[in-house]
Amino acid sequence: MTITVQNGQAKAEQEDELGDTQAVIAAAMDRLGFDSGVFEILKEPMRSLKVRIPVRMDDGNVRVFTGYRIQHTALGPTKGGIRFHPSVSEDEVKALSIWMSLKCSILGLPFGGSKGGIACDPRALSPRELESLSRGYVRAISQMAGPAKDIPAPDVYTNPQIMAWMYDEYNRIRESHTPGFITGKPRILGGSNGRESATGRGVVIAAREIAAYLNRDLLDLRVIIHGFGNVGGEVAKLLHARGVKVVGVGDLFGGIYDPRGLPVTELLEKRDAFGNVTDRFRANLTNREILEQECDMLIPASIEHQITSENAHRIRASIIVEAANGPTTLEATRMLTDRGVVIVPDIVANAGGVTASYFEWVQNNQGLYWTEEEVNARLETRMVESLHAVFRMAQKHGVHMRMAAYMVGIENLAHAVKLRGWA
Ligand code: GLU
Repeated sequence: MTITVQNGQAKAEQEDELGDTQAVIAAAMDRLGFDSGVFEILKEPMRSLKVRIPVRMDDGNVRVFTGYRIQHTALGPTKGGIRFHPSVSEDEVKALSIWMSLKCSILGLPFGGSKGGIACDPRALSPRELESLSRGYVRAISQMAGPAKDIPAPDVYTNPQIMAWMYDEYNRIRESHTPGFITGKPRILGGSNGRESATGRGVVIAAREIAAYLNRDLLDLRVIIHGFGNVGGEVAKLLHARGVKVVGVGDLFGGIYDPRGLPVTELLEKRDAFGNVTDRFRANLTNREILEQECDMLIPASIEHQITSENAHRIRASIIVEAANGPTTLEATRMLTDRGVVIVPDIVANAGGVTASYFEWVQNNQGLYWTEEEVNARLETRMVESLHAVFRMAQKHGVHMRMAAYMVGIENLAHAVKLRGWA
């Protein structure tokens, strides 16, 4: 039986992360032998809230921002970050919530997936405006959030300070101390050791494991990192510390490439709060060109749709480790894997962040906190086990790693749907 996908097929490939996701879910379920009733449940989120958030701006005028909180679920409570970005849309947040379900399932976390977002440009907001927007968002979504309902966290352009404002607003509304409402908080407010670096740390574990799986030595690989924010910066730092040669770095404004290796420490020092460095360093490429330079491993660490059918044939890396969510379209995945490029997909490669968020939530609920060594050791075990489950699935079914990761993730979700009597 073949499960068909209708949603979004007419849309351009570049913009259709939801359609892409549904197509891979359908194919993964076909291979695993699940029926279309289960697909009907899992193809879309179960709950979606669109909110309008009025904010008094510094000039005295009120501006209304649009935000979303979307829960995919099957397992619960749901878990997923909040992004502040001009391109946030309902379909994007929907796809991101499904990816969170898959991530949590692959990593064996007791969560379904969710995501939130506000369409805004945080670089153009003052700290006071940003605080007001963050608090307004929590007031708007508080009914559907909570430590046993839905637990937010940071994502693109949100950070521990924003989590702290949101935590404070939620506790005021509930008139209780509920640190497990949100993760990625500053440590003094119940944040976990190791949470901020966890996504990058997990990506480096993925890079190390895929290199070993392919019988390559990580130390021989030349790496390009596209995106130099919290995740890309951490990946660069950890790889550089291990002695791996980082030959390229890209950000919103440009790219820096040097086949002899880049001065990573200096670049990190010069970076601004939004992960930009090329405007204050000798950038020699555009942020598109940097993707196409000579290297062995490419680590996209910015946002969706960086590698598409338009540039996939010019990518020279033989290994791609996806630190961002959705950086490679489905069509580009096909083009790349057809010529032997191995892609470690986002839903396992960048799952270190949500895994450490899970640890934070556990610590908040039990009121007993772990050292950074404990967090990192637990992260290491979970990442390695999950990566190997994906590698085994790929080998067993002769499929590319993205399909294999979806198959590992969807299997648990489909069982949960059946056990709950939903299909
Ligand atoms: N925003 C991160 C992600 O996309 C982390 C989510 C979380 O910690 O809940 O995986």
